[in-house]
Amino acid sequence: MPSSSPGPASAPSPVRSVVRSVVRSVVVVGAGLAGAQTLAALRRDGFDGHVTLVGGEGVAPYDRPPLSKELLSRSEPAWLSSELGVRVEELADVTLLDDPAARLEPSAGSVGVVLGSGRTVTADAVVLATGSTPVRPPGWGAATVLHTARDAAALRAHVSAGRRLVIVGAGWIGAEVAGVAAGAGCDVTVVETAGTPLSRQLGEVVGAHLARWYAEAGVRLVTGSQVTSVDDGGARLADGRQLPADVVLAAVGARPATAWLAGALPLDARGAVTVDRTGRLVVPADAAPSGAPLPPGADRIWAVGDCATREHPVFGLVPGGHWSAALHDPEVTVRALLAGGHEDGPATEPVAAHAPYVFSRQLGHDLTLFGTPSPTDDVVLRGDPRGGASGHEGWTALYLDPTTRSTVRRARAILVVDAPREVGAVRRLMNRDVPVDLDLTVATDLARRLRDAVV
Ligand SMILES: Cc1cc2nc3c(=O)[nH]c(=O)nc-3n(C[C@H](O)[C@H](O)[C@H](O)COP(=O)(O)OP(=O)(O)OC[C@H]3O[C@@H](n4cnc5c(N)ncnc54)[C@H](O)[C@@H]3O)c2cc1C
Repeated sequence: MPSSSPGPASAPSPVRSVVRSVVRSVVVVGAGLAGAQTLAALRRDGFDGHVTLVGGEGVAPYDRPPLSKELLSRSEPAWLSSELGVRVEELADVTLLDDPAARLEPSAGSVGVVLGSGRTVTADAVVLATGSTPVRPPGWGAATVLHTARDAAALRAHVSAGRRLVIVGAGWIGAEVAGVAAGAGCDVTVVETAGTPLSRQLGEVVGAHLARWYAEAGVRLVTGSQVTSVDDGGARLADGRQLPADVVLAAVGARPATAWLAGALPLDARGAVTVDRTGRLVVPADAAPSGAPLPPGADRIWAVGDCATREHPVFGLVPGGHWSAALHDPEVTVRALLAGGHEDGPATEPVAAHAPYVFSRQLGHDLTLFGTPSPTDDVVLRGDPRGGASGHEGWTALYLDPTTRSTVRRARAILVVDAPREVGAVRRLMNRDVPVDLDLTVATDLARRLRDAVV
């Protein structure tokens, strides 16, 4: 993987077994990480039927995390053909990378994907891998966003010494770009509605520790403030203050890129396609009453990556947005798809469980998160975020299920900060397919290993 994507290296494996599936044709919609991995898994599992790949960016799949972390140091996209060895044009029979899907037409006998050009691709099964799309609030047309290689090229042109950059949102991407831009000599202000950075993702206890990093990196952080409008001169706050800027980056989140599926499939409140553990379409528990029902031919529809909310054996329903899910989940989905929807189909090797995983390099610090923290979790720290005298590298935040109350607590997530040697151990703990219960007296003792705290 690229240096910014410290996951398992995934050179293409040899074909595992030749599967003669009842499915003879597949259309994969979305040419990002999840789409590319789906294609690779199909061929690796011996699928010799017809595959069409439909994309929306006009380029081969590339990796997104370097777009922010290596905004200035990597001006060419990190192509997945070189990062993962996935050459989509060699794996697919037809690649249509610049003709986005506009409508889905499932039926009992097949599934049709109508493209923007008017062309229809028909197949036995479809895998939806359309990822997400950045949120740009109404009236913020003058703001830039960062989701594609094209966005990165546009933003890069503004990031140089002396330029004024206002970033709206102290989330993962906002923090990463702030650090890079400040390092290049930009005058950077980050505006965040919540009281701390990353509070929606990591809660306020941890967010308060991250806030210090901004000043240390020379970035101005304005919390508890809302941007109400953006124009060519900068951003205006709800209290009337004007923040002058040469460029405003809206880093206020992303939504599943599923607008084209409205009316064809039931979507959840976020607009995601809800799928079971194998990636097969199911009706979301929070589907809008007026939403679409499961269509005929629903068993032909699968979804992977950021566009999906997927059931996980330990963490329940996990919304997309995890690079690792886009990397790993297609393997399980392809096996089930080729097996005609049965988890125990022809492929026999078990697929390892993967906890939701996010990594980030921001403002001079490394964060690695496993699991699904909630702002209502109890947070217990292992190590001292202020350094302390322990001599222990970095620190770790344990997110504990608030309904468990004793010295043994269930971990919903573990965040590792600036402690690379702890990451492997935490990954092994969280990637098990059973919940992790920790004895806190051991877990908070830096002289003991975290894995010794598992009950
Ligand atoms: C700047 C940035 C930094 C990130 N950093 C991290 C990180 O550090 N750690 C982490 O875990 N995650 C990170 N992520 C998120 C991670 O990149 C995503 O989870 C991952 O890319 C999801 O892969 P995907 O294939 O599901 O979706 P995407 O990568 O979004 O790919 C989906 C593709 O589908 C295409 N598409 C959309 N609609 C259609 C349509 N109708 N028809 C055809 N094609 C369509 C899109 O154009 C896109 O090419 C980052 C994301 C960004 C943008």
